[in-house]
Amino acid sequence: MAFESVTEQEGVVRRLRAMLQGGRLPHAFLFVGSVGTGRLAAARELAHVLLCSARKRPDEYCGKCADCRLFAAGSHPDYSDTGVPEGKQLVPIESVRGMERSAALKPVRAGRRVFVMRDAERISLEAANSFLKTLEEPPGGCVFILIASSLRRMPETVVSRCRIVRFANMPPDALADRLEADGLVAEDAQWLARRAWGSPGLARQFREAGLHEFNREMVEKLTKLAEAGAFALSDWFLQEAQERSSSGADARIALQELLECAAAYYRDLALAAGGPAAGPDAVLDRADLVLETIERIGANAQGRLALDRMFVRLARVPEVPA
Ligand SMILES: [Zn+2]
Repeated sequence: MAFESVTEQEGVVRRLRAMLQGGRLPHAFLFVGSVGTGRLAAARELAHVLLCSARKRPDEYCGKCADCRLFAAGSHPDYSDTGVPEGKQLVPIESVRGMERSAALKPVRAGRRVFVMRDAERISLEAANSFLKTLEEPPGGCVFILIASSLRRMPETVVSRCRIVRFANMPPDALADRLEADGLVAEDAQWLARRAWGSPGLARQFREAGLHEFNREMVEKLTKLAEAGAFALSDWFLQEAQERSSSGADARIALQELLECAAAYYRDLALAAGGPAAGPDAVLDRADLVLETIERIGANAQGRLALDRMFVRLARVPEVPA
């Protein structure tokens, strides 16, 4: 069955199937959502359906015809897929030009050609301008599927020529279940899922960076925080940030990311403490203090000073009554 590999995106699949059944397919799609939400899987499934030459239903591929076999083997001549190469920052303009040249040619086998562009928010303005002409007057039978994480960095001229399909993040509980099935202990899985706002891609990045392990150690240290230990905690944060980065600028961002864990910890504590009657104000003050520090570090404040100041003040804020 087509779209089986696209899990947790029932709405998207329903919409794509309806478009295929209705036979009114746009010539350009823009799949928007965070990494790991199934955008590429959906694009490939859509392409597969479009290239199958023995469809019994407009929204299903047969899985048996020569086109299906070529597609499954990754060698269908009317399908191509481009994106940012490993170690590069942008989609190379040569790839975009190559795509335009192939689009101008007749399909080799099927009645159409399908082009997938990953990282569409990372094409240069020059490439986007050149690509615009193809998008405006697409050669017959071409379908473009652009994939992006957000629309913010995409030229409006490109966005306005595409049918936008949004891929939502997962409910954190569903993501936590998936992470747990993938070998994480329940507590870490839940924390990562919440911390990544249900984005599977972000959760994977955090996991690879060992952020859940950092968090566990951090919580233990914060619960024992006394004024005397404030400077040691600064040292620890700075060292952890250093280990997670390759340059000074990276270290600043890594430090902010680690401090986000501390802010999230105090926010969670405040939530657990219940309404204002339970006295979570002091805890919220702590979360605010951490957030302020993140901003100060972002605005070029000296990292160590900002951290020392923060931990000394955190140690002084009175404990929340249990
Ligand atoms: Zn087929």
